[in-house]
Amino acid sequence: ERQRHARLRRLPAETLDGQAIELQANLELPIELPLIAQSGAVGIGLLRTEFLFMNRETIPDENTQTESYRTIVEAMHGDPVTIRVLDWGGEKEIEALAMAGIVPEIADTNPALGLRGIRLLLRRPELLETQFAAILRASIAGPVRVLLPMVTMVGEVRAAREIYEKVARRLRRRGERLAEKLPPLGIMIETPGAALSADALALEADFFSIGTNDLTAYTLAVDRSESDVADLYDPMHPAVLRLVQFATEAALRTRMPVSICGELAAAPKLTPLLLGLGVRSLSMNASAVPKVKQVIRSVEIPDCIRLARRLMDQSDPECIRTLINGFGQGAE
Ligand code: PEP
Ligand code: MG
Repeated sequence: ERQRHARLRRLPAETLDGQAIELQANLELPIELPLIAQSGAVGIGLLRTEFLFMNRETIPDENTQTESYRTIVEAMHGDPVTIRVLDWGGEKEIEALAMAGIVPEIADTNPALGLRGIRLLLRRPELLETQFAAILRASIAGPVRVLLPMVTMVGEVRAAREIYEKVARRLRRRGERLAEKLPPLGIMIETPGAALSADALALEADFFSIGTNDLTAYTLAVDRSESDVADLYDPMHPAVLRLVQFATEAALRTRMPVSICGELAAAPKLTPLLLGLGVRSLSMNASAVPKVKQVIRSVEIPDCIRLARRLMDQSDPECIRTLINGFGQGAE
């Protein structure tokens, strides 16, 4: 089994009919770096930066953040790294922010619908400025992209980009040698509002990363950490899949890069459907990479497209499940 994985690691993530797929890993803690190297992932599609802000009493300063991002970028040896700026909120506790008085000690009664992700960062732009500066400085060490969490409005992307460019100008004045073209600035599509306005957002963002974890939660109104309703949390619900399709198509129409970085991307059963919808880039837990790669190497795109066509006509979750389970068994 181990040998098979070692062999698979070196094989390309490519379908039987020769379509290359970008297969990347999500990183939540730096200790996962060796796992990513072993997994066969080519780059980090989602670097969650919350770890930097946890278990400490102050906000990490620009140099501390720069070192941390640079270490990760260097460890990837030239493979791309997508760094997401701080997504505080929901079930994620950030003591540092509370202690530094950035967020109230007592969270909103409904934090998932409150001051979360880009909303908090735009309210406290000094946080965003420090993080942008650190990411830009680390981007000298390798190919980097910057990702904004919890976007729902076009105005948020514009406001964040203004700050991004201002920070870049400031760094250059300080003598930092940034690349002439700044790293792409993309957005998470993880709310129904963002998914349904993907055509407008595509004009403002440089790339999309579809986050199916929050997208499922907000679409189905099911709290990710609420165990009483855990059985209602279903990323294969037709409403979620339709939003993924809508956002993907908006990106493809404008030839904008789009990837999926939520748990949906880690489910090998769903890989044929996602390929059939036109997705060519997936990011997931390192542990899921080998299985998803195996599926990619066993399918042909036209079969995936046929599956997606049939499946996206369905509104009954049971039919969707049956089609997915039947794929590859002569049922398509
Ligand atoms: C998501 O919401 O799907 C996502 C990838 O982000 P996170 O899980 O960090 O909220
Ligand atoms: Mg999310």
